Amino acid sequence: MRIDLHTHSTVSDGTGTPAQVMREAAEAGLHIVALTDHDSVDGWEEAAATAADAGLGFVPGIEVSCRHHGISIHLLSYWHRPDDDQVATMLSLTREARVQRAREIVDKVAVDYPVTWEAVADLAGDAATVGRPHIADALVAQGVVPTRDEAFTDILGGNSRYYVPHYAPEVTDAVRTMSAAGGVTVFAHPGADARGRIVTTSVIESMARAGLVGLEIDHRDHDERQRDRLARIAARLGLVRTGASDYHGTGKRNELGENLTDPKAFIALEKARAAGRPSAVN
Ligand code: AMP
Ligand code: ZN
Ligand code: FE
Ligand code: FE
Repeated sequence: MRIDLHTHSTVSDGTGTPAQVMREAAEAGLHIVALTDHDSVDGWEEAAATAADAGLGFVPGIEVSCRHHGISIHLLSYWHRPDDDQVATMLSLTREARVQRAREIVDKVAVDYPVTWEAVADLAGDAATVGRPHIADALVAQGVVPTRDEAFTDILGGNSRYYVPHYAPEVTDAVRTMSAAGGVTVFAHPGADARGRIVTTSVIESMARAGLVGLEIDHRDHDERQRDRLARIAARLGLVRTGASDYHGTGKRNELGENLTDPKAFIALEKARAAGRPSAVN
């Protein structure tokens, strides 16, 4: 059983439509796949329909942008009620802030490189959630850099002088909000220290107290040492160990199924969902 619980589509910063991602997942030999676009659930319906046609198990998910003392945190949530008022409000605030912030980054980058907001907006198309990868696409289109990845090396990375953060909810609030809406939450790539600052173990403990169910340990941004450290934390706090590709289509090296969630871990997530109170399930 091959289970991949973290993928992106054109609803956010992936390059394939939700239907394309599901078809590729079936072709890649996956059995269960989650669509987890940044801060939007707009892809759920299309993905669910295509997954059903392809005989693929579909898990509706999201990757919620959060913060803790200025550190950016990504929180995966699965199966939450998409029409929950608090969830909808939280996500729309973030999506609006992301547009403003993308414009600010473009203004700064435009001092040194040929990029305009119009070009970025055009490339983002009808994406619900705008992100730095769309700015990267504009830089690629202008021949400034050859790939999305390389746009992040100097220009768009978290340590760049062009970087601007955006509003995002405090992570423990987000865990509570998603859990209250029936979501099963998993801390995405909690040890991805090459991308930016990561939180201390005590923040993971606070998240666990708020209802966090799992840690995404098997992810390409974690080396063996980081995986071992996180596995010890997961065991101590009774958190489920998950794994996933964080697939974004072309332009990023991540391949569907490159990291997987163990079927036993998936059953633990389903149990947390059934319990409806993820904090009570360990
Ligand atoms: P944003 O959501 O606008 O802050 O941009 C973050 C997104 O950019 C991540 O979800 C990744 O898809 C992508 N990203 C972040 N760092 C890198 C990197 N070093 N190389 C390629 N893509 C990256
Ligand atoms: Zn992304
Ligand atoms: Fe992420
Ligand atoms: Fe992601």
